[in-house]
Amino acid sequence: MKKIFSISLTLLLLIASFGLAVTYIVGTSADFPPFEYVQNGKYVGFDMDLISTIAKTEGFNVEIRDMSFDSLIPALRSGVIDIAIAGMTITKDRSKVVDFSDPYWFADQDVIVNKNSNYTVTVLFGNHKIGVQTGTTGDLWVSDNLLKAGFIKQNNLKRYQSFIYSLQALLNGAVDAVVLDSPVAKRFAQMRPVKVVATLMTGESYGIAVKKGNSRLIDQINDGLKKLKASGEMSKLIDKYFGK
Ligand code: GLN
Repeated sequence: MKKIFSISLTLLLLIASFGLAVTYIVGTSADFPPFEYVQNGKYVGFDMDLISTIAKTEGFNVEIRDMSFDSLIPALRSGVIDIAIAGMTITKDRSKVVDFSDPYWFADQDVIVNKNSNYTVTVLFGNHKIGVQTGTTGDLWVSDNLLKAGFIKQNNLKRYQSFIYSLQALLNGAVDAVVLDSPVAKRFAQMRPVKVVATLMTGESYGIAVKKGNSRLIDQINDGLKKLKASGEMSKLIDKYFGK
Protein backbone atom coordinates (compact mmCIF):
# COMPACT_ATOMS: atom_id res chain seq x y z
CA MET A 1 0.00 0.00 0.00
CA LYS A 2 2.76 2.36 1.07
CA LYS A 3 4.64 1.51 -2.13
CA ILE A 4 1.63 2.24 -4.31
CA PHE A 5 1.21 5.54 -2.47
CA SER A 6 4.81 6.57 -3.03
CA ILE A 7 4.70 5.55 -6.71
CA SER A 8 1.56 7.61 -7.29
CA LEU A 9 3.10 10.52 -5.40
CA THR A 10 6.17 10.38 -7.66
CA LEU A 11 3.93 10.24 -10.73
CA LEU A 12 1.92 13.17 -9.46
CA LEU A 13 5.07 15.20 -8.83
CA LEU A 14 6.35 14.35 -12.31
CA ILE A 15 3.09 15.42 -13.93
CA ALA A 16 3.08 18.59 -11.83
CA SER A 17 6.63 19.53 -12.78
CA PHE A 18 5.92 18.94 -16.48
CA GLY A 19 2.68 20.85 -16.18
CA LEU A 20 4.35 23.83 -14.54
CA ALA A 21 6.92 24.67 -17.17
CA VAL A 22 5.40 24.71 -20.62
CA THR A 23 7.78 24.54 -23.58
CA TYR A 24 7.23 27.02 -26.38
CA ILE A 25 8.64 26.41 -29.84
CA VAL A 26 10.57 29.47 -30.93
CA GLY A 27 11.15 30.05 -34.64
CA THR A 28 14.11 32.04 -35.89
CA SER A 29 16.19 32.47 -39.02
CA ALA A 30 19.76 31.95 -37.87
CA ASP A 31 21.59 33.96 -40.53
CA PHE A 32 21.38 37.36 -38.90
CA PRO A 33 24.42 38.13 -36.71
CA PRO A 34 24.59 39.35 -34.00
CA PHE A 35 20.86 38.63 -33.42
CA GLU A 36 20.83 34.95 -34.40
CA TYR A 37 23.50 32.76 -35.96
CA VAL A 38 25.03 29.33 -35.60
CA GLN A 39 28.23 28.86 -33.61
CA ASN A 40 29.69 25.43 -32.86
CA GLY A 41 26.41 23.87 -33.92
CA LYS A 42 24.39 26.02 -31.49
CA TYR A 43 21.91 28.83 -32.09
CA VAL A 44 23.38 31.88 -30.44
CA GLY A 45 22.98 35.66 -30.54
CA PHE A 46 21.22 38.56 -28.90
CA ASP A 47 17.71 37.33 -29.74
CA MET A 48 18.51 33.80 -28.55
CA ASP A 49 19.73 35.08 -25.17
CA LEU A 50 16.85 37.53 -24.98
CA ILE A 51 14.15 34.90 -25.44
CA SER A 52 15.78 32.41 -23.09
CA THR A 53 16.18 35.10 -20.40
CA ILE A 54 12.53 36.15 -20.84
CA ALA A 55 11.56 32.46 -20.62
CA LYS A 56 13.53 32.04 -17.38
CA THR A 57 11.96 35.16 -15.89
CA GLU A 58 8.45 34.11 -16.89
CA GLY A 59 8.84 30.42 -16.06
CA PHE A 60 8.60 28.71 -19.43
CA ASN A 61 11.01 26.67 -21.55
CA VAL A 62 11.97 27.33 -25.15
CA GLU A 63 13.03 25.12 -28.00
CA ILE A 64 14.57 26.78 -31.06
CA ARG A 65 13.56 25.94 -34.68
CA ASP A 66 15.57 27.40 -37.52
CA MET A 67 13.76 28.23 -40.76
CA SER A 68 13.80 30.74 -43.61
CA PHE A 69 12.71 34.22 -42.55
CA ASP A 70 9.66 34.22 -44.84
CA SER A 71 8.39 30.95 -43.25
CA LEU A 72 8.18 32.42 -39.75
CA ILE A 73 4.81 34.16 -40.02
CA PRO A 74 3.10 31.22 -41.79
CA ALA A 75 4.59 28.91 -39.10
CA LEU A 76 3.14 31.10 -36.33
CA ARG A 77 -0.25 31.21 -38.01
CA SER A 78 -0.43 27.45 -38.48
CA GLY A 79 0.80 26.76 -34.94
CA VAL A 80 4.06 25.06 -35.98
CA ILE A 81 5.85 27.59 -33.74
CA ASP A 82 4.58 29.62 -30.75
CA ILE A 83 7.00 32.54 -30.85
CA ALA A 84 9.07 34.13 -33.62
CA ILE A 85 12.19 36.12 -32.78
CA ALA A 86 14.38 37.05 -35.73
CA GLY A 87 15.14 40.76 -35.74
CA MET A 88 11.62 41.04 -37.13
CA THR A 89 10.40 44.52 -37.97
CA ILE A 90 6.96 45.45 -36.71
CA THR A 91 5.09 46.44 -39.87
CA LYS A 92 1.44 47.31 -40.44
CA ASP A 93 0.91 44.34 -42.76
CA ARG A 94 2.52 41.84 -40.40
CA SER A 95 0.56 43.28 -37.45
CA LYS A 96 -2.64 42.34 -39.27
CA VAL A 97 -1.76 38.63 -39.11
CA VAL A 98 0.40 38.22 -35.96
CA ASP A 99 0.74 40.06 -32.64
CA PHE A 100 4.00 41.82 -31.73
CA SER A 101 5.60 42.53 -28.38
CA ASP A 102 6.77 45.98 -27.40
CA PRO A 103 9.74 47.08 -29.55
CA TYR A 104 13.15 45.89 -28.32
CA TRP A 105 15.49 47.22 -31.03
CA PHE A 106 15.65 49.90 -33.71
CA ALA A 107 17.16 49.65 -37.20
CA ASP A 108 17.41 51.23 -40.63
CA GLN A 109 18.44 49.61 -43.90
CA ASP A 110 22.06 49.76 -45.11
CA VAL A 111 23.50 49.25 -48.57
CA ILE A 112 26.64 47.10 -48.65
CA VAL A 113 29.05 46.55 -51.54
CA ASN A 114 32.39 44.77 -51.94
CA LYS A 115 35.15 46.50 -50.01
CA ASN A 116 37.36 47.02 -53.09
CA SER A 117 34.59 48.41 -55.31
CA ASN A 118 34.03 52.09 -56.12
CA TYR A 119 30.27 51.91 -55.80
CA THR A 120 28.43 54.56 -53.82
CA VAL A 121 24.72 54.93 -53.08
CA THR A 122 24.18 55.31 -56.86
CA VAL A 123 24.67 51.54 -57.13
CA LEU A 124 20.93 51.41 -56.34
CA PHE A 125 20.08 53.12 -59.60
CA GLY A 126 20.73 52.04 -63.16
CA ASN A 127 21.81 48.69 -64.44
CA HIS A 128 23.07 47.03 -61.24
CA LYS A 129 22.08 43.84 -59.54
CA ILE A 130 20.67 44.26 -56.04
CA GLY A 131 20.43 41.36 -53.59
CA VAL A 132 17.90 41.08 -50.75
CA GLN A 133 16.52 38.38 -48.51
CA THR A 134 13.03 37.27 -49.55
CA GLY A 135 10.20 38.83 -47.57
CA THR A 136 12.33 41.16 -45.46
CA THR A 137 11.85 44.88 -45.10
CA GLY A 138 14.96 45.26 -47.31
CA ASP A 139 13.10 43.33 -50.03
CA LEU A 140 10.02 45.52 -49.49
CA TRP A 141 12.07 48.73 -49.67
CA VAL A 142 13.79 47.76 -52.92
CA SER A 143 10.54 46.45 -54.43
CA ASP A 144 8.57 49.58 -53.54
CA ASN A 145 11.17 52.30 -54.04
CA LEU A 146 13.32 50.96 -56.86
CA LEU A 147 11.41 48.31 -58.76
CA LYS A 148 7.88 49.74 -58.74
CA ALA A 149 9.31 53.24 -59.21
CA GLY A 150 11.06 52.02 -62.38
CA PHE A 151 14.66 52.62 -61.23
CA ILE A 152 15.69 48.98 -61.64
CA LYS A 153 14.53 46.14 -63.85
CA GLN A 154 12.85 43.03 -62.40
CA ASN A 155 15.75 40.76 -63.36
CA ASN A 156 18.18 43.02 -61.49
CA LEU A 157 16.43 42.31 -58.19
CA LYS A 158 17.86 39.07 -56.80
CA ARG A 159 16.00 37.51 -53.89
CA TYR A 160 17.75 34.98 -51.64
CA GLN A 161 16.33 32.68 -48.97
CA SER A 162 19.12 33.60 -46.58
CA PHE A 163 21.42 36.55 -45.97
CA ILE A 164 24.34 34.13 -46.08
CA TYR A 165 23.47 33.43 -49.75
CA SER A 166 23.05 37.11 -50.57
CA LEU A 167 26.41 37.84 -48.96
CA GLN A 168 28.03 35.04 -50.98
CA ALA A 169 26.43 36.44 -54.13
CA LEU A 170 27.95 39.84 -53.32
CA LEU A 171 31.39 38.37 -52.67
CA ASN A 172 31.41 36.34 -55.89
CA GLY A 173 30.07 39.20 -58.00
CA ALA A 174 26.60 37.81 -58.76
CA VAL A 175 25.13 41.01 -57.29
CA ASP A 176 26.61 44.51 -56.96
CA ALA A 177 24.97 45.49 -53.68
CA VAL A 178 22.86 44.03 -50.88
CA VAL A 179 20.21 45.92 -48.88
CA LEU A 180 19.80 44.69 -45.32
CA ASP A 181 19.21 45.79 -41.73
CA SER A 182 21.83 48.26 -40.50
CA PRO A 183 23.04 46.41 -37.36
CA VAL A 184 23.60 43.23 -39.39
CA ALA A 185 25.24 45.10 -42.29
CA LYS A 186 27.67 46.64 -39.81
CA ARG A 187 28.44 43.22 -38.34
CA PHE A 188 29.02 41.70 -41.81
CA ALA A 189 31.34 44.64 -42.61
CA GLN A 190 33.47 43.67 -39.58
CA MET A 191 33.49 39.98 -40.52
CA ARG A 192 33.81 39.98 -44.32
CA PRO A 193 35.43 42.16 -47.07
CA VAL A 194 32.31 44.32 -47.57
CA LYS A 195 31.52 47.93 -46.69
CA VAL A 196 28.46 50.06 -45.97
CA VAL A 197 28.01 52.83 -48.56
CA ALA A 198 24.61 54.22 -47.59
CA THR A 199 21.91 54.12 -44.94
CA LEU A 200 18.24 54.29 -45.85
CA MET A 201 16.45 55.84 -42.88
CA THR A 202 13.53 53.43 -42.65
CA GLY A 203 13.12 53.81 -38.86
CA GLU A 204 12.17 50.20 -38.05
CA SER A 205 11.45 48.61 -34.66
CA TYR A 206 11.96 44.93 -33.92
CA GLY A 207 9.32 42.95 -32.04
CA ILE A 208 8.81 39.38 -30.89
CA ALA A 209 5.79 37.84 -32.63
CA VAL A 210 3.13 35.35 -31.53
CA LYS A 211 -0.04 34.00 -33.11
CA LYS A 212 -2.76 36.64 -33.46
CA GLY A 213 -4.88 36.72 -30.30
CA ASN A 214 -2.40 34.94 -28.02
CA SER A 215 -2.57 37.79 -25.53
CA ARG A 216 -1.48 35.65 -22.57
CA LEU A 217 1.85 34.88 -24.21
CA ILE A 218 2.43 38.39 -25.53
CA ASP A 219 1.71 39.80 -22.02
CA GLN A 220 4.27 37.41 -20.55
CA ILE A 221 6.85 38.42 -23.16
CA ASN A 222 6.22 42.14 -22.55
CA ASP A 223 6.42 41.59 -18.80
CA GLY A 224 9.71 39.75 -19.29
CA LEU A 225 11.07 42.56 -21.46
CA LYS A 226 10.15 45.15 -18.81
CA LYS A 227 11.78 43.12 -16.05
CA LEU A 228 15.00 42.62 -18.04
CA LYS A 229 15.23 46.35 -18.69
CA ALA A 230 14.62 47.18 -15.04
CA SER A 231 17.10 44.60 -13.72
CA GLY A 232 19.91 45.71 -16.02
CA GLU A 233 20.04 42.29 -17.75
CA MET A 234 19.06 43.92 -21.03
CA SER A 235 22.07 46.26 -20.86
CA LYS A 236 24.30 43.27 -20.15
CA LEU A 237 23.01 41.53 -23.27
CA ILE A 238 23.57 44.68 -25.34
CA ASP A 239 27.15 44.87 -24.03
CA LYS A 240 27.70 41.21 -24.82
CA TYR A 241 26.63 41.44 -28.46
CA PHE A 242 27.22 45.06 -29.38
CA GLY A 243 30.24 45.68 -27.20
CA LYS A 244 29.36 49.08 -25.78
N1 GLN B 1 14.16 43.33 -39.97
C1 GLN B 1 13.98 42.75 -41.25
C2 GLN B 1 12.56 42.31 -41.43
O1 GLN B 1 11.84 42.19 -40.50
C3 GLN B 1 14.93 41.58 -41.50
C4 GLN B 1 14.84 40.47 -40.51
C5 GLN B 1 15.66 39.23 -40.85
O2 GLN B 1 16.07 39.01 -41.96
N2 GLN B 1 15.89 38.40 -39.90
O3 GLN B 1 12.11 42.07 -42.50
